[in-house]
Amino acid sequence: MTYRYTPWWLPAALIVSLLMCAVLFAALVLRTPKAVSATTNNENGATTEIYRWRLVTTWPKKFPGLGLAPENFAELLNKMSNGRIQITVYGANEIVPAMGVFDAVSSGSVEMGHGAAYYWKGKIPASSFFTAIPFGMNATEFNGWLHYGGGLEMWREIYAPFNLIPFAGGNTGVQMGGWFNREIKSIADFKGLKMRIPGYAGEIFTRAGGTAVNIPGGELYTALQSGVIDATEWVGPYNDRAFGFQQIAKYYYYPGWQEPGPGLEFVINKNVYESLPQDLQTMISVAARAVNQDMLDEYTARNNSALKELVEHHKVDLRPFPDDVLKTLKKISWEVYDEMAAKDATFARVWKSYREFLEDVGDYHKISEQYYYEKR
Ligand code: CA
Repeated sequence: MTYRYTPWWLPAALIVSLLMCAVLFAALVLRTPKAVSATTNNENGATTEIYRWRLVTTWPKKFPGLGLAPENFAELLNKMSNGRIQITVYGANEIVPAMGVFDAVSSGSVEMGHGAAYYWKGKIPASSFFTAIPFGMNATEFNGWLHYGGGLEMWREIYAPFNLIPFAGGNTGVQMGGWFNREIKSIADFKGLKMRIPGYAGEIFTRAGGTAVNIPGGELYTALQSGVIDATEWVGPYNDRAFGFQQIAKYYYYPGWQEPGPGLEFVINKNVYESLPQDLQTMISVAARAVNQDMLDEYTARNNSALKELVEHHKVDLRPFPDDVLKTLKKISWEVYDEMAAKDATFARVWKSYREFLEDVGDYHKISEQYYYEKR
């Protein structure tokens, strides 16, 4: 038996159903406007969500060393997840300016960022501990503190009110003291010296008589060449040679007291991260950890050949800072941290954890790493 009769209400019901489907679909898409942008069917017919993220950085696109970490991270994650998470990396100023990364990820206007925690010192004074502090931990110690000494938990707790989850995102190892066009024989030579030196190091340098300025990496060469600054620190031989500082500065000082093992950061918007399935969250942790170590490995392998070329080919005048200069800078550093701790409870809490770990691991490193370096 067949029915040819069509009820009068059927077309209306169809239209209403279609409209409801459209509203539901729009609601789903609008709820996560960028993070989930497509679904595909796998071979079993099950639905797979594809996550497309935008990652903004504080570096120019594909910046040597530092800027390659987010590119490597995106590629690794794409491969590990079989294309389920696809990240497009944007350099500074492509979507947001270098110093706008924290706010852009915090607000959710982009999903993810890469930069350095000490850039946000104005918002969070304790953030510097999660990059580096002058005379603080080296890269090995810093990674130990983050992953086995409670550092990462503190970092996450401090970023939580900003709706951000941080991950360690690379480390350059101990840096160089910087490029100078004036010889440093004593602390008195800092008088009137204008240097690009960010973070607490800038404040310490200022207290030692100098004038600290913060200029983004991409503008440093011109600033030093034109005499806007008399000196600059950047990273180490591998990166500094690529910038061409050897053409415009006479002296190259060591060690990088200001950044003994600075760690970079990945930050992910908390809502976006928590909306991921567990397996992708795990892949993010693994990829970040791999990229974090990989950067240190690359700097370890490349710094000395770059330094040799700077000294032998470009005739750069390589010098250590005099002992009393370093002693004075260290004394000022500890004064600055204690003053900050008296003013800011979070700073005090992180400084306590950081200092205890530094002293504890430092004791062992005196008879292991340090002693071994001297004897081998
Ligand atoms: Ca630096």
